[in-house]
Amino acid sequence: AKWFNQPYLKNVLEKGKQVMLSGRVRHNTYEGGLEFENPQFEIIRSPGHGEPEDLVHTGRIVPVYHETQGLTSRVIRSLMKSVLDRWRGHVAEILPRSVLKRHDLPPLREALQQLHFPDDPRSGILADQESSRFYRRLIFEDFFLLQLGLSFRRLEVEKGQSGIAFRASPVRMERFLADLPFTLTAAQRRVIDQIGADMAAPRLMNRLLQGDVGCGKTLVAVAALLTAIENGYQGAFMAPTEILAEQHFLTLRKWLSELGVEVALLTGSVKPRRRQLMMRGMESGKIPLVVGTHALIQEGVKFRKLGLVVVDEQHKFGVLQRKYLAEKGYHPDILIMTATPIPRTLALSVYGDMEVSTIDEMPPGRQAVQTLLLGDSRRSEAYRKVIQELTTGHQAYVVCPLVDPSAKTELKAATQMADQLSTGVFRGWRLGLLHGQMDPDQKESVMGQFKSHQLDLLVSTSIIEVGIDVPNATIILIEQAERFGLAQLHQMRGRVGRSAHDSLCILLPGERLTEEGRHRLEVLVKNQDGFSIAEHDLAIRGPGEFFGTRQSGLPELRVANLLRDVKILELSRQEAFRILKEDPHLKSPEHQPLKDALCRRWKGKLDKITVA
Ligand code: ADP
Ligand code: MG
Repeated sequence: AKWFNQPYLKNVLEKGKQVMLSGRVRHNTYEGGLEFENPQFEIIRSPGHGEPEDLVHTGRIVPVYHETQGLTSRVIRSLMKSVLDRWRGHVAEILPRSVLKRHDLPPLREALQQLHFPDDPRSGILADQESSRFYRRLIFEDFFLLQLGLSFRRLEVEKGQSGIAFRASPVRMERFLADLPFTLTAAQRRVIDQIGADMAAPRLMNRLLQGDVGCGKTLVAVAALLTAIENGYQGAFMAPTEILAEQHFLTLRKWLSELGVEVALLTGSVKPRRRQLMMRGMESGKIPLVVGTHALIQEGVKFRKLGLVVVDEQHKFGVLQRKYLAEKGYHPDILIMTATPIPRTLALSVYGDMEVSTIDEMPPGRQAVQTLLLGDSRRSEAYRKVIQELTTGHQAYVVCPLVDPSAKTELKAATQMADQLSTGVFRGWRLGLLHGQMDPDQKESVMGQFKSHQLDLLVSTSIIEVGIDVPNATIILIEQAERFGLAQLHQMRGRVGRSAHDSLCILLPGERLTEEGRHRLEVLVKNQDGFSIAEHDLAIRGPGEFFGTRQSGLPELRVANLLRDVKILELSRQEAFRILKEDPHLKSPEHQPLKDALCRRWKGKLDKITVA
């Protein structure tokens, strides 16, 4: 056996010791014979010592841990072994016996022992993880605690706080819908009805509306807001960017002025005098509907009778921000919207405390957006395609590469690009520039010009990512596309394909496109549908990054994987419901350990159960 660079082993492996080695055995081609290279070893017996001890590092399936400097797997293994030997008997069981039995799950202490130091190599973590009972047990527990916590949150919402029972008023609603320049899709009808029924019920509404980019969620939100306003309540509509808030404001004003509903816009850039006036109007109840950004959740913003809160593009907000807005009213109903749709099972687990409505249909006549991935050498071809679209009277977006988001560099990159393009290939076309560092008036004016077709082409940073709706724009060119996330790219692509005209999205990757980067972009080329893109994204990035705990406000999963273990997720969900039906507050002594575990896992994220 040979070890390299470990001279101290000379002293450890003294003559006379009995040693067990394990590792790969190879032919030594020079000297002949078999040899170990850097094998694991374990001293079984030193001269003069008694019986050999249990083997920890060799002669068995051994656990491999995440090492860190100064703490090797070998050390952790020894620690783990002694901890388990000594304390295994004290590990409390948290899952009720009936649950263990129904799903053939081993007790926690056995699962821990067997996963670290399996008796039967096939039952360990090395074996097919799904078929390992011991592994399943931990996954189940992970999900079970998640689902129980979510159920609690939901019960709090349903029981603890009664909401407003809005009366539906079909007449005004029908008139609003009839005035629209299009008819609703069946999916829009369905979710409007769902939301209507939910708002009419006396409990609090806490609903997620998901639907792919461009499916027409704004309209659904407006229908809901109208119901609240009809009932003498106020509505608030929060969007993540000023540009989007501004756009919603214009749309809502267009749609609602006919009906005599006044709409106000509150963003950070509203001048103090005007802001004062508006805040007074909101506080007195004179203003029934306000659209805005984060400015809506600032201190001092008050409503007389806030009945419905709508949060658009909710993935751009944190949980707390949604909560702050809701706290401006007395238990208002809540509708949050997202264009990052996720598969149903996942929606259940991540938004398990909310009702979910899904728009799974696009307005008629929408063309799929053709997506091309062109190498840098085909840049001029890309520009030609843009000019082709402009020539037919359509408009275009060019999205600048993602630069270091610090103010100066973003400004520089966007400005440079706009200069270069306006004096170069796009000379003669009316070109506008939009980036995050512009002051709000400027942004508003550029956006307005683009909307009214006083500009042909908009050079922009990723701030156009969400919501912007200019149906006459039919082509979008994204520079250094690999630097953006998949969901983000899908959103940007959603800026086009908003009319019956053919639309095109061109991805221009940077010079150093990796294999993995290309793979990601191909996903976009091959998939139109936000659901399947989300699934790919989830698979590539993993659930942790995909959801971001900040966003979801959920405890981390430790062993379970939302994608791989969906089946176990379903089971644990059923069990969570069953147990809460029997014992809604987990009061029975048998459930005490479970309740303790639940509180530990959800520490700080679940206020009520600690009191119950
Ligand atoms: P998103 O769901 O991405 O927020 P929007 O609400 O911005 O989508 O709608 C996208 C575009 O589709 C808007 O121009 C909107 O007016 C239009 N639209 C919405 N519903 C319909 C419909 N049923 N038929 C035709 N166009 C529609
Ligand atoms: Mg939208």
